[in-house]
Amino acid sequence: MIASTSIHIERTTTPKAKPPQDKLGFGIYFTDHMFIMNYTADEGWHQSRIVPYQPITLDPAAKVFHYGQTVFEGLKAYKTADGRVQVFRPDANMRRMNLSNDRMSMPEIPTDLVLDAIKGLTHIDQDWIPDGEGNSLYIRPFIIATEALLGVQPSQAYTFMIIMSPVGAYYPEGINPVKIFVESHYVRAMIGGVGEAKTAGNYAAGLKAQDAAKEQGYTQVLWLDGAEHKYIEEVGSMNVFFKIDGTVYTPSLNGSILDGITRNSVIQLLRHWQVPVVERQLSIEEIYEAGKNGKLEEAFGTGTAAVISPVGELNWLGVKLVINGGATGGLSEKLYNNLTGIQYGKLEDEFNWMVEVK
Ligand SMILES: *Cc1c(COP(=O)(O)O)cnc(C)c1O
Repeated sequence: MIASTSIHIERTTTPKAKPPQDKLGFGIYFTDHMFIMNYTADEGWHQSRIVPYQPITLDPAAKVFHYGQTVFEGLKAYKTADGRVQVFRPDANMRRMNLSNDRMSMPEIPTDLVLDAIKGLTHIDQDWIPDGEGNSLYIRPFIIATEALLGVQPSQAYTFMIIMSPVGAYYPEGINPVKIFVESHYVRAMIGGVGEAKTAGNYAAGLKAQDAAKEQGYTQVLWLDGAEHKYIEEVGSMNVFFKIDGTVYTPSLNGSILDGITRNSVIQLLRHWQVPVVERQLSIEEIYEAGKNGKLEEAFGTGTAAVISPVGELNWLGVKLVINGGATGGLSEKLYNNLTGIQYGKLEDEFNWMVEVK
């Protein structure tokens, strides 16, 4: 058992039935336990505990409901063929969570304690990690402002929780290209705003555009910059890459883009393979230009949920651009196979990304 002695553990006496492996979906079912700890300005973080999964009670004046002071993270645990349990780059999620906390005027979390909590909770609920190609256990740490006070100032009290959900393969039939609508009216984030924090409001703000895109038959939107609607930012809640004439391009981290851990891992893999990769401002116009000239070879999104999501078609102001004949590109496939190979313990973990839970 890994959880440090400072984490109190109360086990459930009424374990739930596990969901059928072929109906997992994403974030529908939750495991038997959760982690919770509290923060007050006087005591700091305290009362860290693993308890049976259960509802929580909050005062209706809790600041999270009114002013959205909250952050979250998302990472996954995998079961290897020989039965080991491992988590992908949890230290990177903890670092990013503290950057989000800082941006949202929320207290820093003790990363060693939270890493122990992730491992301890994953260990207790390891029977919930589904077997089967592409299945995994999604781990959702989050913090909410709980002080019951309507003044607009940073909350003096917070609750940190970790819940976990067994999730199915993002693409049950293997990786498949998606159609993406380039959003030219709504924006996700502005430089100087909270786009680089993993905070709830960014997602609420994106729902309207996402719904409109879905109505027109597109899976997701590609966000353009908030000032000029000209430069590429992200695809839905994924970072985005384009392979043009042998070089891979991705928008640089400018303050309004989320610093994805999959993005970072892809860049490391490409550099390791000596594939040229460039982080810079990228206009939607130059992507269309490259498409017209036959130089746009592949496009793909990156994120914890899908790992690699090939883009088969863009629609920008009514003009469709089909990429790689609408099929998955060779580099997208290679990246997917390598990342998932490392995550499921099939390939050597050369970068020390996996943290074993035992
Ligand atoms: C979480 C997220 C990503 C992807 O980050 P990963 O760490 O790779 O999962 C990208 N964009 C947004 C807006 C996100 O919320």
